[in-house]
Amino acid sequence: MSSSSYHSSSSSTGGHGWPNCKCGSKAVMETSWTDDNPGRRFLGCRHFREGRKCKFFEWVDDEICKRGKAVIIALRNENIKLKLKMKQCTAMEMKTEEYVTMESKVKQYEKDLQTMELRVQKLVKDEKFWKSSTCIVVVLLVVCLAKLWDV
Ligand SMILES: [Zn+2]
Repeated sequence: MSSSSYHSSSSSTGGHGWPNCKCGSKAVMETSWTDDNPGRRFLGCRHFREGRKCKFFEWVDDEICKRGKAVIIALRNENIKLKLKMKQCTAMEMKTEEYVTMESKVKQYEKDLQTMELRVQKLVKDEKFWKSSTCIVVVLLVVCLAKLWDV
């Protein structure tokens, strides 16, 4: 007739009041977004998505009234729409950024090309200069040799 054993009889409740699920790991709290229970929190197995079938499930919140459900569902749908729009905007922004990057790269390539063209022109000029100066040197040599020969 002891009144001290007042703990919850639920075997799923762990030492600190946070329940373990049937597979032994701590349960996780999630929020349901179904039409029947929008925004209602529940505890479930953390391995649920990995396909483990310990099937632990417990509602945390009470079921909400019809009006509350309708409002939350409308907000949920609006949220989904907005998220989709945001994704599309981000994708467009990324494309614009890509385009701007490409454009600046093209400009840089054009600059590089101009520099290269100038270099080639200079090289061609230099080559012509050296060819003509070589000719002059040869002519001078010949003239000098001819004079030496005469003397
Ligand atoms: Zn589990």
